[in-house]
Amino acid sequence: MAFSPFIRRAISSKLFSVHKSYLLRSPSTFHHAPTRINHSPSSSYSSLPSYMRAAVFSEPNKPLTIQEFHMPRPKAGEVLIKIKACGVCHSDLHVMKGEIPFPSPCVVGHEITGEVVEHGPLTDRKTIERLPIGAHVVGAFIMPCGNCSYCSKGHDDLCEDFFAFNRAKGTLYDGETRLFLHKDGKPIYMYSMGGLAEYCVTPAHGVSILPKSLPYTESAILGCAVFTAYGAMAHAAEVRPGDSVAIIGIGGVGSREEIHVRPAIIHTQAIPFLPQGVEGVRFCYGCGDHWCYGCGDQRGGL
Ligand SMILES: [Zn+2]
Ligand SMILES: [Zn+2]
Repeated sequence: MAFSPFIRRAISSKLFSVHKSYLLRSPSTFHHAPTRINHSPSSSYSSLPSYMRAAVFSEPNKPLTIQEFHMPRPKAGEVLIKIKACGVCHSDLHVMKGEIPFPSPCVVGHEITGEVVEHGPLTDRKTIERLPIGAHVVGAFIMPCGNCSYCSKGHDDLCEDFFAFNRAKGTLYDGETRLFLHKDGKPIYMYSMGGLAEYCVTPAHGVSILPKSLPYTESAILGCAVFTAYGAMAHAAEVRPGDSVAIIGIGGVGSREEIHVRPAIIHTQAIPFLPQGVEGVRFCYGCGDHWCYGCGDQRGGL
């Protein structure tokens, strides 16, 4: 799978430093009295809460609401993750503004780090050994199924099941969500794994080990903004040392591109948009940009 090698490269290159303002920690108020429930043999936890909380999107331009859910249960080849941090990505905001059609109500959030707490029944031994209980992990926003024609060729970024089921229907690859409201059992759709929650279920193919030396919060965007920036630079633009590049917008992806190009001594021109203001300009110069423009009006020129 392409995700794991990339994560290793990103970690070794210290590409993971991020603006903390993009990230949310799991709310410290999300505590429940533990309740004993039945677990598969591959769970080392003798008890987990019987329910959890998650932020639910119901309709565009309305606030998310915190609601209680039955504890999500993983199926074969899936893991249950106790979420430690989740990035807030503009893709989430597109859904919340109604700019990207997606089934609702749903739980958004797809840039997660956390701890493996349970494997689905009948999950194969290789997966359990790769992702043992207690492992620190980082999730990819594209959760490859590992079985389709694209995944089998290593093009897991084009996974058919991910786009056919998750992005089109808000479910995992058996056509079902793992999220059900505690009060009435109503199913709630999942945008990727539904990361703005205390726990989530994700296919094991969409998870990589996060070394315990790395912080949960700063590492959360490894699975989206960081590899999106890397893909744009390395594969789409095929940027090489000595090239000149213009980075338009210093958000989650643009700021990662700043970090990617710096070690290669590439001439950069960065164009922060107005909302990023002085902070965006400072960040660009801090990265060694040769030129940095401020955009006075997102609809107009520079
Ligand atoms: Zn994202
Ligand atoms: Zn696939």
